[in-house]
Amino acid sequence: MKKKSDGSRPSATEASKAVAETLAHGSPVEKRVLFKDALALATFGITATDAKKQGICVSCRSIVDLATLSEEDRAEYGISALCSGCFEEIFA
Ligand SMILES: [Zn+2]
Repeated sequence: MKKKSDGSRPSATEASKAVAETLAHGSPVEKRVLFKDALALATFGITATDAKKQGICVSCRSIVDLATLSEEDRAEYGISALCSGCFEEIFA
C-alpha cells in the first residue's frame, strides 16, 4: 500500500491556484506575504508562514522561543521567520 501524504501541505496545483487568486484579488499585505513566502521557499525550502506555524527559523530550522526574544527580535521573526543568529548572518 502506498504511504499517504500527511495532507498538511497543499499540492502544487492548489498552491499555485492560491497564488493566482492572491495576485488577482489580494491586498498589498497578502501579496507581500506571498512574495516573502515564495522567496523563503526558493531560498530555504520552507515558507516563512510554515516556519512561523512550526515555531522554527526558516533558515537553520532551530526552534525559536518567542518568549526568550527581545521585542526587536520578535518583530523581526514575525517578518522574516529568521532567528536572530541567521538574520544577522544574512543581513549584516
Ligand atoms: Zn536560524
